[in-house]
Amino acid sequence: MTFNQRKAVVTGAGRGIGKAIAEALARHGVKVICVSKSESSCGAVADAIVAAGGAARALAVDVADGAAVAKAAEQLLAEEGKIDILVNNAGITRDGLLARMSEDDWNAVIQTNLTSCFHWTKAIGWPMCRARYGRIVNIASVVGLVGNAGQANYAAAKGGMIAFTKSVAKEFARRNVTANVVAPGFIRTDMTSGLSEDVQKAAQSVIPMQRFGEASDVAALAAFLCSEEAGYITGQVFTVDGGMAM
Ligand code: NAP
Repeated sequence: MTFNQRKAVVTGAGRGIGKAIAEALARHGVKVICVSKSESSCGAVADAIVAAGGAARALAVDVADGAAVAKAAEQLLAEEGKIDILVNNAGITRDGLLARMSEDDWNAVIQTNLTSCFHWTKAIGWPMCRARYGRIVNIASVVGLVGNAGQANYAAAKGGMIAFTKSVAKEFARRNVTANVVAPGFIRTDMTSGLSEDVQKAAQSVIPMQRFGEASDVAALAAFLCSEEAGYITGQVFTVDGGMAM
């Protein structure tokens, strides 16, 4: 994979899939701006990348806060000169059956998982268009394709991300900016470690490969979609799910 000294923003890079994507890009010489909610998690990842000989910096910002994202992105662009790659990965779950789902749980998931993509893509996507180069990768979920009982908020956000990405891909294509979706199935991270043993067993039984994936499985594909070689791929949704949603 070729990257030509690119610079990337990876949201939710403090743990799990985002951390794996940040590390994968850094291994290829990309300077990574590691975004997370808490200073400590993105700081630790950025420090580890730098200690390993890569280039990185940490940025603690709540991606659900549009004004904070706009300010952070403006400052980043001023300091870095350009951002070539944007990976919208930050996400949360607030699961519950619809009858018991509060409006707060609905709003928190929509704002953190979906509206954050709007804020970041607006702030960084247009400068990419002006520069006639960009790669945008949005981390959705197979749940955004097939739905899931108990996750109406999460499924709506992830389905929204898919439609958002296709629209952005159509808007930005003429400017050599691609936008694609990676839709993971069950991946071993903090997000899934809290699931009960019964739920984990039930989940495994519907995965043809009979096991959860690793964050590195998602990162490998995300990194490829960020590379020079992926320049003619846009508006696509790729599942990384051990065959679950085929
Ligand atoms: P995770 O281990 O829970 O990590 C989530 C990351 O997102 C953390 O770094 C967290 O920051 C950051 N984050 C959450 N809310 C944020 C906010 N408001 N502002 C800034 N950063 C915020 O999650 P994961 O399992 O790696 O999931 C990553 C993405 O993949 C999510 O979008 C998730 O929906 C998606 N996904 C995961 C799975 C799975 O099975 N794990 C499956 C399908 C899709 P802090 O470190 O500061 O807390």
